[in-house]
Amino acid sequence: MTAKVIDGKAIAAALRADVATQVAAFRSATGRAPGLAVVLVGEDSASAVYVRAKGKATLEAGMASFEHKLVSNTPEADLLALVDQLNADPAVDGILVQLPLPPQIDATKVITRIDPDKDVDGFHPVNAGRLAIGLDGFVPCTPLGCLKLLRAELGDLSGKSAVVIGRSNIVGKPMALLLLGDSCTVTIAHSRTTDLPAVVRQADIVVAAVGRANMVKGEWLKPGATVIDVGINRTEAGLVGDVDFASASEVAGAITPVPGGVGPMTIACLIRNTFVSAARREGFRYEKQL
Ligand code: NDP
Repeated sequence: MTAKVIDGKAIAAALRADVATQVAAFRSATGRAPGLAVVLVGEDSASAVYVRAKGKATLEAGMASFEHKLVSNTPEADLLALVDQLNADPAVDGILVQLPLPPQIDATKVITRIDPDKDVDGFHPVNAGRLAIGLDGFVPCTPLGCLKLLRAELGDLSGKSAVVIGRSNIVGKPMALLLLGDSCTVTIAHSRTTDLPAVVRQADIVVAAVGRANMVKGEWLKPGATVIDVGINRTEAGLVGDVDFASASEVAGAITPVPGGVGPMTIACLIRNTFVSAARREGFRYEKQL
């Protein structure tokens, strides 16, 4: 079997186009554009690339982008003061502080300072809690993007067996909650899981969010499984995922490539979250379906 390659770029482009249409209607109804503020502290080159891509996608969707670049030795108090200022700014609907932050800054303190109703990254404890108990809030963009890819590929996920490899707060845990919300039977695997291949083999859906190049092998998979590869690993052979694409695509039914799978969806979901924030703040009607 050769798996279908899930085209994350195309699905993300469709989502962004849909958001752009809704943004145009929002602008004529309210007389203003939804705004996303992105804060970058320091000169981390990967972070700078992500921030540029987010700003570009924001403008392309017809929204306003506010970029704040701070030097790497910025004191924590200065960053907290900027967050307070953005919380109070009516033109700002979404606030994103790019991680990682330099060592003198406590990331949890900064994230917790963001108004939960402007926290379009979905990292604030209030939004984590809302997701856990099924309330409207903001869901982290990467797992939200993975869910959208799975729904686009499989339709109704109800009753499917899903394994999420990884339990981080930004990917693995929210991913597991989203799959549970769609009535999958969910297993979360991590570094202490014994016999990971056996755990993976019983899954209809595998989401790999580990950060280890090519770890998940084709022979671990149930034939026909749908595989979502979140991993971004820079190797001598270039950018690769957590799944060994060559062997996995011989066994899986469908699989995301790296790059061109989850990555574009992450940005599209950030754009969508920012629009949703603006719509909620203005009482503007929007399509609630995730
Ligand atoms: P973390 O390092 O925070 O979490 C990795 C998880 O993988 C941990 O829960 C860890 O377990 C688990 N793990 C580590 N080794 C093993 C192993 N041998 N077997 C099973 N589980 C293991 O990473 P993130 O969740 O932040 O990111 C995961 C990957 O996704 C990275 O490659 C990252 O670059 C990528 N990523 C991609 C994004 C995108 O837009 N495409 C966005 C965000 C991340 P334990 O908890 O026990 O230590």
